[in-house]
Amino acid sequence: MRKDAKRNTRLAHDGSHPEEQFGIVNPPVYRASTVDYGTVAEMQALRENPYDNFVYGRVGTPTSKAFEEAVANLEGAERCVAVGSGLAAISAAMLAFVGSGDHILVCDNAYSPTRNLCENFMKRYGVTTTYYDPMIGAGIAELFQDNTKVIYTESPGSHTFEIQDIPAITNAAHKAGVKVVMDNTWGAGYFFKPFDHGVDVSVQAATKYYVGHSDAMVGTISMSGENILPVLDNVRVLGYNIAPDDAYLALRGMRTLNVRLKRHEKNALKVAEWLSGRPEIDRVLHPALPSCPGHELWQRDFTGSNGLFSVIFKPTDQSAMHAFIDGLELFSLGGSWGGYESLVLPTNVTRTVTEWHENPQSIRFHIGLEDPDDLIADIEAGLKRLSSAG
Ligand SMILES: *Cc1c(COP(=O)(O)O)cnc(C)c1O
Repeated sequence: MRKDAKRNTRLAHDGSHPEEQFGIVNPPVYRASTVDYGTVAEMQALRENPYDNFVYGRVGTPTSKAFEEAVANLEGAERCVAVGSGLAAISAAMLAFVGSGDHILVCDNAYSPTRNLCENFMKRYGVTTTYYDPMIGAGIAELFQDNTKVIYTESPGSHTFEIQDIPAITNAAHKAGVKVVMDNTWGAGYFFKPFDHGVDVSVQAATKYYVGHSDAMVGTISMSGENILPVLDNVRVLGYNIAPDDAYLALRGMRTLNVRLKRHEKNALKVAEWLSGRPEIDRVLHPALPSCPGHELWQRDFTGSNGLFSVIFKPTDQSAMHAFIDGLELFSLGGSWGGYESLVLPTNVTRTVTEWHENPQSIRFHIGLEDPDDLIADIEAGLKRLSSAG
């Protein structure tokens, strides 16, 4: 591969090594636990370098390696390790840099299972969390304590979509020797380049756009330099791994990531803009629209948007909201996102240090690959149900 190959070219080829497998372009699915070392001397040599050799199924196979290579290259990292879910990636990455008595800073709009990890797991092991306003930028330095080890960022944040000033945060962090771990799931390593903006470790729920078809759970952790070994060691200590079939599906998904993302983006913008003009809607939280907090940071740091955004309704009866959601024909009601299909999910906002004054009657939309005019017609029928029930 040419060194200067562009990201779409890399997405089509990275991780593919036909010369190693009879010319076949896709990696085989290696289902493995045991690796036969041959001789004791060979065993010792392999185990000396467990992360660059294949020593046991849990520590990686040629299938997981192929996927990890593609993700590391896309995100601009030296190394990626894949695990069994996005949440596993978050916990393995954060726990690699903290111990009892340490302190972490977590954005107030973080994915709620991340908050759960801080409150119900890290706390038990003596790690304290301070939440911060996602719009804090360089002001984060005022929250540093002597024992602060990690700043955890997620941009845009789950459900409320504030875009953070990541360069300002990483700059303040590095002056104080603090690591920045970012949940980069929304940017998918495609629309946001975490390492160009100073992030130390990027985690993703590859379950979303890499897998892309709602049929596998996968997490990734990407990092470079001195951050590689602590993360790989921690993933190994915790016993996290990725199933080979899931690694295969995630890499297969990446081959079409560029066209899928572009279509999700186009469809979602059409639907979001249409919703913005509707009288039933108070506000649309879509990073590419000026009504989203941090929109100008999105313009500065991101190169596109995807299918996910939230909509705040004008106050109405709860039964009207239910009528809107329950009657939708093309939207499933469910969690996760990033698949080919459209979804809605009532917005879930938990805050510790920032107030969320908006009407809690809000819905997160994931716009899939359907024809957006059909999606709009479905939503329009829903808004009629909402008005007549409200
Ligand atoms: C879904 C999601 C996760 C968790 O990923 P799983 O693969 O479901 O564990 C983490 N972060 C964000 C922003 C997500 O949307």
